[in-house]
Amino acid sequence: MSALQKATIVGGGVIGGGWVARFLLNGWNVSVFDPDLEAERKIGEVLANARRALPALYDKVMPAEGTLTFHDDMGEALADAAWVQESVPERLDLKHKIHAQIDKLSPAEAVIGSSTSGFKPSELNEHGGRVVVAHPFNPVYLLPLVELVGNAETCAKASEILRSIGMYPLTVRKEIDAHIGDRLLEAVWREGLWLIKDGICTTEELDEVIRMGFGLRWAQMGLFETYRIAGGEAGMKHFMAQFGPALQWPWTKLMDVPEFTDELVDLIAGQSDAQSGHMSIRELERLRDDNLIGMMRALKKTGSGAGGVLNTHEATMPEPAIDDLPVTVDRTIPQSWTDYNGHMNEAHYLEASAQATDRFMAMIGADADYVAAGNSYFTVENHMQFLDELHAGDRLKITTHVLQGEGKKMQLFHCLYGENGQLAATVETLLIHMDLNARKTSLPSEAVAAKLATYAQEHAKLPAPRGVGRHVGLKG
Ligand code: NAD
Repeated sequence: MSALQKATIVGGGVIGGGWVARFLLNGWNVSVFDPDLEAERKIGEVLANARRALPALYDKVMPAEGTLTFHDDMGEALADAAWVQESVPERLDLKHKIHAQIDKLSPAEAVIGSSTSGFKPSELNEHGGRVVVAHPFNPVYLLPLVELVGNAETCAKASEILRSIGMYPLTVRKEIDAHIGDRLLEAVWREGLWLIKDGICTTEELDEVIRMGFGLRWAQMGLFETYRIAGGEAGMKHFMAQFGPALQWPWTKLMDVPEFTDELVDLIAGQSDAQSGHMSIRELERLRDDNLIGMMRALKKTGSGAGGVLNTHEATMPEPAIDDLPVTVDRTIPQSWTDYNGHMNEAHYLEASAQATDRFMAMIGADADYVAAGNSYFTVENHMQFLDELHAGDRLKITTHVLQGEGKKMQLFHCLYGENGQLAATVETLLIHMDLNARKTSLPSEAVAAKLATYAQEHAKLPAPRGVGRHVGLKG
């Protein structure tokens, strides 16, 4: 196996800590240079949240974590780095000083990225250098977008690496202060400050306007696709004709910035305390992460937006290894699968076993193309035994034993194994082959029938799994 690649993070605050987690949890070794004596503790806390969150996005197991090291010497931190990410405070003089050192001490072939929210590559490289802007969004370990700006060749190399760690690099066509995302956010932020200063709404009311309405639209269709729909059947041209004239009205105060007087700062900070002061920042982060995961998993089903990025990344992760019995699921249990008893809720034992069935179907050729062509298996009966608790963050493996695979019938026995290899549940499931157009039972294709029969013959030689044919309430 080839040696793990190494990323060096220079400046391990809010954003640097997120980069540490993103690389480490995707199997890279990571070294950190940050003079803050508290850096290790702070990064540890970000990592704990990331370990809880990131694997929950995937239905496959993530690579084993790399090794994390902290260094007092920048040269030592930078040795052998394939990626260097600078995330020090947003001051140009500081960035110049740090990049002069990074340039001198890092390997010639390393990609050097800066997390800068505002500076252009031409400003960062004013005194020479080879840094490109690689601007991420918080939390870096969950949100895929990275705006890349600068040398085209370096950006192309950077894109490839970022995709391999599940991110969505977008190369900006021309350099501009604050890139694209923050230009948009800045406009909303400016309007928001005026609306609060003028007493039109509070911080909480402004947030409700976003999260009860257009915020829900933005994550899945953005601005222009949403407006296309808003134009009705006549589409975008109609939308522009209808709302274009409003642009001439003096609605916006975009170029006029409210002065940050003590009064305005107190007003906003006070309202924000009233709105969210009952939770710590780490608690708010966990709430944010759980909500993001729920939304991103929903997007995964349609492949929209960030969901499409997850599907592409997941496809690069290896399928579970096949032993005597095929391993049909190998994944981490997400937080959202646990219930008020603190363990995995019964419904998700079935969800996991349905994933095992889907995987097994793909293995015998009853895959997405087969379904699109009008054939599938439908579940007609399940029997489950719950034998042990499973918890969020545990690794879950499922093996699938074919009990019967003849004619229209496919009978499977899934064994769910927990973190320590203990048998946590079994699911016996009977499926019938269907013609999706006629909505009637039918025989599988010859190819699918042959593969299924091979598994059935091989598995018939193995001992019958414990609990086969049980009915509810049977003793022993
Ligand atoms: P931060 O203050 O949380 O972290 C900065 C870190 O840099 C601190 O840990 C500090 O100890 C360290 N540092 C200071 N001097 C250093 C030096 N000489 N060498 C090494 N480390 C040093 O700031 P942040 O919010 O993480 O922002 C970092 C960068 O990321 C900025 O350029 C910012 O514009 C950008 N950014 C921030 C956000 C955000 O939402 N906070 C989002 C995207 C990009």
